Amino acid sequence: MSEMYIKFLGTGGARYVVAKQLRYSAGIFLHACGQNVMIDPGPGTLVRMAKSKPRIDIENITAVIATHSHIDHINDINILIDAMTEGGDKKRGRLFAPRECLEGEDAVIFSYLRNFPEDIVTLEEKTSYEIGDLKFTTSIRHRHTAETYGLIFSIEGKKVSFLPDTGFFDGLRESYAQSDVLIVNTVLRSFKPGASERHLSFDDLETLIELLSPGKLAMTHFGMGMLKARPWELAQELSGRSGIEVIAASDGMRLDL
Ligand SMILES: [Zn+2]
Repeated sequence: MSEMYIKFLGTGGARYVVAKQLRYSAGIFLHACGQNVMIDPGPGTLVRMAKSKPRIDIENITAVIATHSHIDHINDINILIDAMTEGGDKKRGRLFAPRECLEGEDAVIFSYLRNFPEDIVTLEEKTSYEIGDLKFTTSIRHRHTAETYGLIFSIEGKKVSFLPDTGFFDGLRESYAQSDVLIVNTVLRSFKPGASERHLSFDDLETLIELLSPGKLAMTHFGMGMLKARPWELAQELSGRSGIEVIAASDGMRLDL
């Protein structure tokens, strides 16, 4: 079995943390089943790939996936397409994104880059996709201000789920239940009227764990309230209460699968 892992190139989310780069806002790298996938390439992804130890070569990226069109998730998507294809000279790599990222007035891919990748695939709710031997399914549509889907990878019999921005709702169960590894964008520390309709908070995680029974949970995409509350301490506390391993991701952290 070859090595399979996730690398968090950035763990910052929300406006202030990203603006001040208190945590990097680069994407999540997944290496599995012979594929190299960049998920949600926020601002600084290309830089953090180059600075990563060992470096992640853009030529080796086989797919880029965006979960939704917000800037902290897609800022570097155009430069990744350009770099991945050597400025369009080599038609390679695949791009997956919800329709909203690809069409309409908020489309985020420059039109001159659209012929560069091998193909551009529109993500739809609860649909299965393949990147070579790497299979994934999209989640139920999230409760967020953009068209947002999570990603559920099937990796050698393991369910590895990315649960990006959403407000909490029971419907998350049908997509994410029994994940072996559950990565959750934990933007808020506590419930916040308004914001909690579209973002999860640390206070939601205990309910989320009861609802989904994950094998382990990794928090990332932290807003300011989370950073101030020391995510690594919160993780330890939640591990104790829930009985499952809870990890607070940090910039550059590798999680072996
Ligand atoms: Zn968002």
